[in-house]
Amino acid sequence: MDSLCFEYIVLTQATLNRGNLPVMDILFACSEAHPLIKTGGLADVSGSLPRAIKNLKQEIRLILPAYPVARGNAGILRLVSEISLPGSQRPVRILHGRLPHTRVQLYLIDAPEYFDRAGGPYSTPAGKDWPDNAARFALFARAVCAVAMNQAGLDWKPDLVHCNDWQTGLVPALLSLQAKRPATIFTIHNLAYQGLFGWDQFKALQLPHDWWSLDTLEFHDKISFIKGGLVFSDWITTVSPTYAKEIRTTEFGCGLEGLLEHRKDRLTGILNGVDYQVWSPGRDRLLPQTYTARTLESKLKNKAALQGTFGLPAKAEIALFGHVGRLVEQKGLDLILDLLPELLKRPMQLVFLGTGEARLEQALRKAHRQHQDRIGVQIDYDEKLAHLLEAGSDVFLMPSRFEPCGLNQLYSLRYATPPIVRNTGGLADSVIDANGPNLYQHTATGFVFEQARPRQLLRAIDRALNLFNRQDVWKDLQQTGMREDFSWSRSASTYVDLYEQVLKHPRTTTPDSPGTSPRQKLSEALI
Ligand code: ADP
Repeated sequence: MDSLCFEYIVLTQATLNRGNLPVMDILFACSEAHPLIKTGGLADVSGSLPRAIKNLKQEIRLILPAYPVARGNAGILRLVSEISLPGSQRPVRILHGRLPHTRVQLYLIDAPEYFDRAGGPYSTPAGKDWPDNAARFALFARAVCAVAMNQAGLDWKPDLVHCNDWQTGLVPALLSLQAKRPATIFTIHNLAYQGLFGWDQFKALQLPHDWWSLDTLEFHDKISFIKGGLVFSDWITTVSPTYAKEIRTTEFGCGLEGLLEHRKDRLTGILNGVDYQVWSPGRDRLLPQTYTARTLESKLKNKAALQGTFGLPAKAEIALFGHVGRLVEQKGLDLILDLLPELLKRPMQLVFLGTGEARLEQALRKAHRQHQDRIGVQIDYDEKLAHLLEAGSDVFLMPSRFEPCGLNQLYSLRYATPPIVRNTGGLADSVIDANGPNLYQHTATGFVFEQARPRQLLRAIDRALNLFNRQDVWKDLQQTGMREDFSWSRSASTYVDLYEQVLKHPRTTTPDSPGTSPRQKLSEALI
């Protein structure tokens, strides 16, 4: 049996068997969390998974940098500690509060020289990476470790630290140097972002010299923060079962497939959930008109509002295709752009909301200028408009080249906006193609195509247009999608099972976890 399937069955079994097991103390470390600060799906996950785990009666606390926006959105905060850390001239302050609207305790790491600046969490207002990102997230990792080792004056020591993406990659590495350390889990939300920095920056971080080596943090003559998580953590997870398999291949592994293959016995894919308190059309306060599966006709009011917002003619009968997301190569926007001449021959309107690469922003602006009555574009980050776009579109376009999990397709299912997706990662794990048998059995929820090629996407779009004109079939497709349940409760249980399982394993201070191969074998796997 495939080891990932086996893992899943073992974990699910553990969920069923869980009785009154003791409460675990968990520190959840991340670089963004909704509603404090958000650039993408990581924030959605970090804002909702801890709450779902807290609801399972575990003591989970969230820790992230005290960016000004996050501080502003956090509500009441109290200074609870000041610590000295390598890399910071001044003592680092720890602020304590709650993740808004939850019982989850929150620590914000306040180091003004690194985090108190205008701009994004990773980039300048002009969109360039902060030049000192290595120092910023090394300092954050050191602060997380101080809390994890109960050396931050908080009188609390977690059993386990759950790290997320490269910004927290140094945490498992640094903790591996400690005796009696908590267990570590590292979640890959997107393997393409690795936190790579040059030799000079590595030297300045004052990390152990022997970490500049293939079997620890070095990656093609750079230091790789994500490798800290992949090499040193006790367990690796990623955000969908299919992506967990894909990242062990050359096509999706971003050069780390050898390492991930080597660690496959400790690699689990757990599909993200949706926070249906935020993303439900029946109670969404950001919509002009709420609706449910029974009042689907009310969705049309959102469509009219969306057409109005984007300056498109308010026509109910024309199919409106929407896309929201970061404008980057990964999301396959160029496939849509390539198809524009073809799409304009069809009875459809298109709306786009996003920010990202300049060339894609420019191409969208140009398309809008040339076809203002057919194509609406907002180059912006706008939470409210994203909700309207999910609700007001008829079809959601998400032709990602790869997609670790993807949240927008999950939202669009709930908003009765069937998604068009590529058969990859979390998209493959969450959308059921509207082919003949699936339509017949009332299990279809969207349109799936195989290869990231414009022609394949076009065929999926034509299939959608065809069904859009068959009202009963379309309504059935919408309602089947709305009924799908991707709430956090199931995924959160699986995480808690995994935490329990990881805590049962003895820990080690050498790379690559106990019971697996020695260093030399790891080096071989990496070549
Ligand atoms: P990723 O994490 O790769 O960006 P996901 O689909 O997992 O992609 O999550 C993206 C999240 O960010 C969703 O909640 C989406 O609505 C939001 N988002 C992305 N771009 C924008 C934007 N321009 N305006 C508003 N929300 C956005």
